[in-house]
Amino acid sequence: MKLVSPDRGCVEADVGTKRYKGRIIEVSDATHAAALKEIGYFPASVGGVARSREHVCPNGHRNYFVTCGRCA
Ligand SMILES: [Zn+2]
Repeated sequence: MKLVSPDRGCVEADVGTKRYKGRIIEVSDATHAAALKEIGYFPASVGGVARSREHVCPNGHRNYFVTCGRCA
């Protein structure tokens, strides 16, 4: 599966003896994928935006961007 690193500053991670480099990495080992998710990596298939980066506007809308798309 493809995993995306949690932030721009984190571009490599070691899992066991293997080193993964890059913002988007291809991980074939499910154990490694689980370990990477533990440290914040997330599947590329979710749209490339981490859930932790969601912002909630004053009206309670969840947005991927700081400016609310529904109130603007
Ligand atoms: Zn809103």
